[in-house]
Amino acid sequence: EPKLSGDFATLMEWADQVRRMKVRANAETPLDADTARKFGAEGIGLCRTEHMFFDPARIGAVRQMIMSETEQGRRDALAKLLPFQRDDFAQLFRIMAGLPVTIRLLDPPLHEFLPHTDAEMAEVAQSLNTDLATMKRRGEELAEANPMLGHRGCRLGISYPEIYEMQARAIFEAAVIVAKEAGKAPVPEIMIPLVATTRELEITRAQVEKQAAAVFAETGTTLEYLVGTMIELPRAALNADKIAENADFFSFGTNDLTQTTFGLSRDDAGKFLPEYLEHGIFPKDPFVSIDVEGVGELVKIGSSKGRTVKNGLKLGICGEHGGDPASITFCESVGLDYVSCSPYRVPVARLAAAQAALGAKK
Ligand code: PEP
Ligand code: MG
Repeated sequence: EPKLSGDFATLMEWADQVRRMKVRANAETPLDADTARKFGAEGIGLCRTEHMFFDPARIGAVRQMIMSETEQGRRDALAKLLPFQRDDFAQLFRIMAGLPVTIRLLDPPLHEFLPHTDAEMAEVAQSLNTDLATMKRRGEELAEANPMLGHRGCRLGISYPEIYEMQARAIFEAAVIVAKEAGKAPVPEIMIPLVATTRELEITRAQVEKQAAAVFAETGTTLEYLVGTMIELPRAALNADKIAENADFFSFGTNDLTQTTFGLSRDDAGKFLPEYLEHGIFPKDPFVSIDVEGVGELVKIGSSKGRTVKNGLKLGICGEHGGDPASITFCESVGLDYVSCSPYRVPVARLAAAQAALGAKK
């Protein structure tokens, strides 16, 4: 049972008195959310909804949704997923008890959702009332050379709007349920992934707002909510002023921002990292500690451009770097409002944020 006690708890209290930045956690399961709270997280900064889709009870419907060649087929599959998602979000809202919960709409590398074995293919074929050959052809159509730079994030939400509609509906339905049972209503922060252009955010934001209006009308309730975006592509950082017009908050996704700034796959960097460290080409692993001159520069540009349009625009970071002390110091210098990291790094992040705040005062 994770819990902070004794001298360590006291030290944490001191840290909390001096730090300026909030510390949130990346969590999508009730267990992670619970751990996060015990370690002092002040909200969820990133709930990666694609992680909720691999559950054996759901993956069939997920594959059905992706493999369907018709909107109706996708809608049938999404209707099966809606109750699961509603329950997922309600649980998180209950555990977080009024603290902010940032829910990111679906952002999978598509290949992870495709059926691979013949048995999986046959199962999807059956659920879609079609044959194995059709499914194999569809699988080939959907296969990508570079899934991490492909049909991911908001691109998926724009091709198949019914996916984001289902998720937004599940979020609002859950928020209404929890608001009715608890004293404190949740304030969902809905986050759009992999945005590069203003229009992407405009379109997906409108999808979310439409669902909010529908659920509020059906339930006779109105709730506060925010719609914001990940800033995780250089183009988004460079156009953050225009993007901010449609965003209630930004969260820097420094994992993808590192990948796309260096043109370096997140999954393959390790192959030459030792030599790069040895030659001092990379002072540190850029996927662990913010590359100040490149990624950091884009975070600065994105922050200042965003705040030029919206004074006090809420800014956070939810890449792995959010739990790295050197990167946290950098985030303090840029004036981010919060960092978000894995639950077990929350105590370290609280200390690092305090140290960074003290350093900034000097
Ligand atoms: C990121 O890109 O930094 C991020 C937080 O999102 P993910 O790691 O899920 O791509
Ligand atoms: Mg990302």
